[in-house]
Amino acid sequence: MTSLQSEIEQRGRRIFELVDKYPESLFSKAGFYQRLMTLSMRDEQLKLQLFRFVDVLPSLHTSGEIIEHLQEYFADAHDSRKLSEFLEAGVRLTRTVPWISGPILRWNVSEMARQFIAGRNPNDVMRTLRKRWTQKIGFTVDLLGETVVSETEADEYAARYLDLLEGLARETKNWTDPLGKNSELFPVVNLSVKISALYSQINPADPADAVAHLTPKLRPLLRRARELGAFINFDMESYAHKNTTLELFKTVFTEEEFKDWPHAGIVAQAYLRDSEADLRDLIEWSRARGTRFAVRLVKGAYWDYETTKSRQNGWDCPVYLQKPESDANFETLTRLLLENESVVTSAFGSHNVRSIAHSQALAEKLGIDRSRFEFQLLYGMAGPIKRALVEMGYRVREYCPVGELLPGMSYLVRRLLENTSNEGFLRAKFSENLPAKDLLRDPCEILRGSRNGVRPPSNATINMTTTTPKTQRGASYENAPLTNIALPENQEKMRAALREQRKQFGRRVPLTINGEKIWTDNMFSSVNPSQPDQIVGYAAEAGIPEAERAVAAARAAFEKWRRTSFEERCQLLERAAEILERRRFELSALEVFEVGKPWVEADGDIREAIDFCTFYARQMRLIGRPRLTQNVPGEESYQHYWPRGVALVIAPWNFPMAILCGMVSAALVTGNTVIMKPSEQSVIIGAMLMEIYEEAGVPPGILNFLNGKGSVIGAHMVDHKDVDLIAFTGSREVGLGIWESAGKTREGQRELKRVICEMGGKNPMIVDSDADLDEAIVDSIYSAFGFQGQKCSALSRLIVLEENYDRVMERLLGAAASVRVGNPEEPGIVVGPVIDEAAYRRILDYIEVGKKEATLAYQAKEVPPHGYFIPPTIFTGVKPNMRIAREEIFGPVLSVLKVRDLDEAIEVANGTDYALTGGFFSRSPANIQRIKAQLEAGNVYINRPCTGAIVGRHPFGGFKMSGSGTKAGGEDYLLNFLVPRVVTENVTRHGLAPEKTPEYRDEFLWPKQ
Ligand SMILES: Cc1cc2nc3c(=O)[nH]c(=O)nc-3n(C[C@H](O)[C@H](O)[C@H](O)COP(=O)(O)OP(=O)(O)OC[C@H]3O[C@@H](n4cnc5c(N)ncnc54)[C@H](O)[C@@H]3O)c2cc1C
Repeated sequence: MTSLQSEIEQRGRRIFELVDKYPESLFSKAGFYQRLMTLSMRDEQLKLQLFRFVDVLPSLHTSGEIIEHLQEYFADAHDSRKLSEFLEAGVRLTRTVPWISGPILRWNVSEMARQFIAGRNPNDVMRTLRKRWTQKIGFTVDLLGETVVSETEADEYAARYLDLLEGLARETKNWTDPLGKNSELFPVVNLSVKISALYSQINPADPADAVAHLTPKLRPLLRRARELGAFINFDMESYAHKNTTLELFKTVFTEEEFKDWPHAGIVAQAYLRDSEADLRDLIEWSRARGTRFAVRLVKGAYWDYETTKSRQNGWDCPVYLQKPESDANFETLTRLLLENESVVTSAFGSHNVRSIAHSQALAEKLGIDRSRFEFQLLYGMAGPIKRALVEMGYRVREYCPVGELLPGMSYLVRRLLENTSNEGFLRAKFSENLPAKDLLRDPCEILRGSRNGVRPPSNATINMTTTTPKTQRGASYENAPLTNIALPENQEKMRAALREQRKQFGRRVPLTINGEKIWTDNMFSSVNPSQPDQIVGYAAEAGIPEAERAVAAARAAFEKWRRTSFEERCQLLERAAEILERRRFELSALEVFEVGKPWVEADGDIREAIDFCTFYARQMRLIGRPRLTQNVPGEESYQHYWPRGVALVIAPWNFPMAILCGMVSAALVTGNTVIMKPSEQSVIIGAMLMEIYEEAGVPPGILNFLNGKGSVIGAHMVDHKDVDLIAFTGSREVGLGIWESAGKTREGQRELKRVICEMGGKNPMIVDSDADLDEAIVDSIYSAFGFQGQKCSALSRLIVLEENYDRVMERLLGAAASVRVGNPEEPGIVVGPVIDEAAYRRILDYIEVGKKEATLAYQAKEVPPHGYFIPPTIFTGVKPNMRIAREEIFGPVLSVLKVRDLDEAIEVANGTDYALTGGFFSRSPANIQRIKAQLEAGNVYINRPCTGAIVGRHPFGGFKMSGSGTKAGGEDYLLNFLVPRVVTENVTRHGLAPEKTPEYRDEFLWPKQ
């Protein structure tokens, strides 16, 4: 054993001795809290329900509501006897005397929250701080709050911080340093600040914008803190905010005014793989700055969030996946901090005795006096460890959250999760009573053991690749990852791509018919909607003769293509996907210019196109082979599919690559030949898809690119006798025209035309009375105004229950006023220009209609002077029969409808011609069930935005006047491009039948596969 390890063990044992001298269970408050913890640790499912219930409880207004939720959450709990006991005023009681049990529960949860929240307000918290002072425990105070969704809320928050600072300074004027040594490093007043509370529009793509907005807000606070001799610490939040926080810290503390101020600190999260590099960078920065600073080293509070988020988006996970890796890295960073003690003051934020003992031992070895660093622990946790550390003569500071119960709920739930985590030290020590030897093991040794086949304790590792249980259909399909725009290298790639695209402005693209490039006399210009005098490119315009040639080419190529093996066709799609991936930033940048897409939206569009290619290739392999229908002796029946013929693809501009590529790829992979007609407004992106498929090796005539006016060539080809299939996505008006026209049979026509028709929506979002407003507001704003509301899935009717209408509106209007509107070339813009002048005029006309019909509750005042910018607009007092509540506007205009109850909400939501997407925010399991069953929408989204469907995960498409009921990106989508065929053969001869019938008969396909 190394001498450091034996020193750690010695110190660890000493801490345990002192801890055991004043025994206190982890769950020190007996009763409700203890029972909650015990039950939670026994049953993961129940834990989830319990924590969800705790989460919703503060927002429930009456006893009746509390009881209803209680019953909904726990109706199916299989351990209901234990549950009843736990709930004191248990489920039985709640039925008979609800007025007693509701308040009791609320009281119990409030008491539990009090265990972790040091005070309701600055006055309240002083009592706790004074008590701790007598115990030689210092403090850092953090203000709990709701998620800040608007700049008004952010300003209120900043004001509260200033108040808090003043109050603390006043109340602690005569307090002295508990160790009386090196006290200049550790001011008594210490404030912990979360940057997300000070600016509502932090966007990971744009740290510079956040820094520019946050520095002026922080300066008064920092100035005052300096005057008062206080310390300010920047807490660290989720990974998406990490770089912004670091950048902000370095920027503001390099300013002349604060350059020589040593009382600034920041958090390093050891669970992050980046943390060592970041810490080294900070230390270097500090040397250059010439003034010391402080670091609170922690493992990190968002482990579950980070792993879930990266799994959802297909990102490399930023956190370690094995607990001992985080522990080992904590020790590496401890060494880094202590070895640079000359420029950095350390605070070790941990409840883990091994981590604490390691810091002590290492500091001792390096000769650093114990008064020159401190231990920080959370209020309400690990009391005995704090006492032990004080007794050993170390500095201890407690992290004390202040705030009301409702805003504090997410903090409370995080603490509950931490205390019941299988991985956590506190559970291992205080609940499972593991021996000191195990608790003090060297994490590096545990890792070495796990590499040699010994499992790390408990469920310490997760597999990031198995995102779906294998039993589910579609399990093996994996989406392309989204670009993680929080990473600086990706931001730089996007900037470079934008610069490069600018150089390409004015490019010219031809038609492609039968593999030939064709130029016509007429050239279409495609403009940048943010700056209409910029021409992104010119495209040759097809007339009727070119349309005829394209149909003839596609018809002639069909025979060969239908006989090409589906495997070859699948590989074509996969090659196209690879090229899309390779050109990803370039294509995203082009979308920013050609259709005004914000960065992340553009990336999402290219990602979706990639997904369509790989998903449809996969689906084709699943259905491509002739398959036995039933196993009966003496007869063989095989079902398989033939392509329909010539497919005409007519796509919109709002998902210029994804929708076009999706329809084209589905048609190609199923063996149809294709004429693709992109929207006139996004023709350059359309031409890029042609280029991509050519590079991927599509043979001449199989895919033809025709640009031209929908009303001329589109209409001509829809009516054409040689077109067998029309895949259309666009407006209701055009869609219905196509549907009707395709219904007529023309002279010489071989097939009944199949129409795949995706049209608009008038999508509702219902906000229930118990909804989590932090989420409901942010997601509603994004659903309504993201990409200027120009998605067929966009939210256009917000339906709010009257019970919380006022609170919803107050926050919604504030949030709308804070949304960033501007040229989407800048990262982080949410609302850019609408697509063209016609759309601009039409939307402004609707706004005029709205002003007459309803009340204009909000309209952005400032939008860029050039370009087709429509100010985000909200109408209230909207009634279901008004035009703005019934007609699709396709712009950033939101109608708000107030309703009595959920019955009326559903009636209003279902009361339009459309049924595309619909959303619901609620924490009532019963109401959620109801919406799942009753909301008329092709895609129903609960507690999340109603836009952003992902291929394979959210097959997309609506019904009623929203579409013909097909689901793009769904398992059965390809069937729309095929005709099914069954071949039956009697294989009995004189009663003798073969023993076995194969499941597939590939010889059936000709030529052989
Ligand atoms: C005073 C104080 C302030 C804090 N401030 C912040 C802050 O600003 N930002 C922040 O993010 N956190 C902060 N934390 C940390 C956080 O809230 C947790 O308390 C802390 O991570 C628990 O670590 P531990 O060493 O006490 O316990 P341990 O039980 O030793 O460690 C638990 C931690 O290990 C990590 N972990 C769990 N499972 C795994 C796994 N499978 N693989 C890899 N790692 C895993 C997680 O980070 C988890 O929190 C703070 C903590 C304290 C005490």
